[in-house]
Amino acid sequence: MKQESDSNAVMSNGTSKESSSPSGQAKGRPAAGTLIVCPTSVLRQWAEELHNKVTSKANLSVLVYHGSNRTKDPHEIAKYDVVLTTYSIVSMEVPKQPCVDRDDDEKGKLAGDDALSMDFPLSKKRKCPPSSNKKGLKHKKKVDESLLDSASRPLAKVAWFRVVLDEAQSIKNHRTQVARACWGLRAKRRWCLSGTPIQNAIDDLYSYFRFLKYEPFSAYKTFCSLIKFPITKNPAKGYPKLQAILQTMMLRRTKGTLLDGKPIINLPPKVIEMKRVEFTKEERDFYSRLESDSRAQFKEYANAGTVKQNYVNILLMLLRLRQACDHPLLVSGFDTNSLWKSSIETAKKLPKEKITFLLSCLASLALCGICNDPPEDAVVTVCGHVFCNQCISQHLSGDDNQCPAANNCKVRISASSVFSSAALTSTLSGQPIQESSPDCPDSQGDEVLGPRFEDGCQGSSKIKAALEVLKSLAKPQDHRLKSSGCPEGSSDVHSGDTPNCSPDEKNMVTGESLNDSSKVLGEKAIVFSQWTRMLDLFEVGLKSSSIQYRRLDGTMSVAARDKAVKDFKTLPEVSVMIMSLKAASLGLNMVEACHVLLLDLWWNPTTEDQAVDRAHRIGQTRQVTVSRLTVKDTVEDRILALQQKKREMVASAFGEDETGDRQTRLTVEDLEYLFMA
Ligand SMILES: [Zn+2]
Ligand SMILES: [Zn+2]
Repeated sequence: MKQESDSNAVMSNGTSKESSSPSGQAKGRPAAGTLIVCPTSVLRQWAEELHNKVTSKANLSVLVYHGSNRTKDPHEIAKYDVVLTTYSIVSMEVPKQPCVDRDDDEKGKLAGDDALSMDFPLSKKRKCPPSSNKKGLKHKKKVDESLLDSASRPLAKVAWFRVVLDEAQSIKNHRTQVARACWGLRAKRRWCLSGTPIQNAIDDLYSYFRFLKYEPFSAYKTFCSLIKFPITKNPAKGYPKLQAILQTMMLRRTKGTLLDGKPIINLPPKVIEMKRVEFTKEERDFYSRLESDSRAQFKEYANAGTVKQNYVNILLMLLRLRQACDHPLLVSGFDTNSLWKSSIETAKKLPKEKITFLLSCLASLALCGICNDPPEDAVVTVCGHVFCNQCISQHLSGDDNQCPAANNCKVRISASSVFSSAALTSTLSGQPIQESSPDCPDSQGDEVLGPRFEDGCQGSSKIKAALEVLKSLAKPQDHRLKSSGCPEGSSDVHSGDTPNCSPDEKNMVTGESLNDSSKVLGEKAIVFSQWTRMLDLFEVGLKSSSIQYRRLDGTMSVAARDKAVKDFKTLPEVSVMIMSLKAASLGLNMVEACHVLLLDLWWNPTTEDQAVDRAHRIGQTRQVTVSRLTVKDTVEDRILALQQKKREMVASAFGEDETGDRQTRLTVEDLEYLFMA
């Protein structure tokens, strides 16, 4: 039904111990059907797919359990074959299981050292746990049940036959409210469904084991001693052990999987085209200056042996080089004053010292706690952790309201406890924040960039090249005419399928017919960038080219995102979706598009693959063309090579040449390579 990334995994408990005891139906808890828990962004999609894919003969009754007027009656819920709901609702309705630390202390005391012994035979342990342990579990169960009966709402008041967690990576952090709530759901059968079961670390797996009640790994200490520590100590020995465990409980399907000798799914081909863009002379001058400065700086660090100590500084230099390939204006930045108005009132109530402290956090060289890159539009949480505006917005719009900083901060945060530098400064000075125009952002860096880039609305070479690709899709029938109108040998874009002429000249040729042809419907495309400000700049180009588009990024509300996706899928005149790379991994299905444009490169190719898979997935009937736009003779060449290396890396829990790992940490060798002349 769904296809994630290049592969999909179902982890299941087979049958849990609850099925052998009548406790599931005890105390008049009504027996219910299947509960499917998914992110809000794919709830509608699940309902549609169930409607379209399940034959009417099956007579399947489906309830979408969502919204404030949802039923409060558990008996009503129990009437349906399938109930669809979201992680946020489970988080609200189901009493949280205790955090692992507390839980394990308790279990550790009762079970003694047996549970920690590494060579204790697994099968024996599962079938006949030490009696003291059994007692401990029973005792705990009683506590949970009384909790359930008093505080819980309908989802927790029924005994499910089956619970399916879709995009199960939503519970990968076992410390979150949402994970602990999901563990508390009562069911005979449990499934985890995920295209990326491991995103950051082996630790991600623990929460699944806990939800699946897959003993003995559902106890954190046992998980660590039998799985996590062996891998840390000796990956060559630890990974095969994990593979052996996963094989007993996991069904893994990749796009290449064969069933009875035939491919399990038949996807149309995906063609990747490299579009090599050339800078204008001004852009090249700007880039070269930036590059020679950062090379000199890197050399200094390298000679002093302080590359590691200056990691953040170096990433920042790389960021500027990468951004310069997209648009010189990204390097200097422009006003983002309108951010986080909701927190200004909170800021006013903070003591002066706190505000000064938060400002110093923003001024320090900190990487975003979510994407590990230097933050775009840096904001700081009330606990002093720095993030990209987009990364933290996306996090808060999800099912988790704890600070995601890497040091297990876990402070509860909301939109009113995240501050931009402008909000804090204006609170200190008492001056109101000035609005900036969203359509045509002004440059703050005129003095740095000089007069050449004063006009923020001037498209860069890369933007122009991308617009050319989009225009060729919108008007396929006069494609030939246009290319014949271009003089030879003046090319900015070298590629097999685009007309061999510079964007400027082509604009002149087609300028007059623009209004007539703008209503012609062509193929749809998704355009990705990792920077919201690049999307801002690209919007300007789309508007002036009369291309109708929608936008999707992590700073938008869930409702606004749903609307954008729906418009793109259903309105024929909306031909382009511009989308943040960081908002792409949400299980979104956008097979209406058969072209994908990647405006910039991300360190880890997995993220890019996930983005492309919005269009290249089950349901796609046409060939998908991916255009990767890079600028000649820049750092982008070397990032491409680095990505290739990562793709080839053979080290994973799955014994395949793909890790599903989003880690972006670069080694010293990587950095040396990226700065080499
Ligand atoms: Zn970030
Ligand atoms: Zn924090």
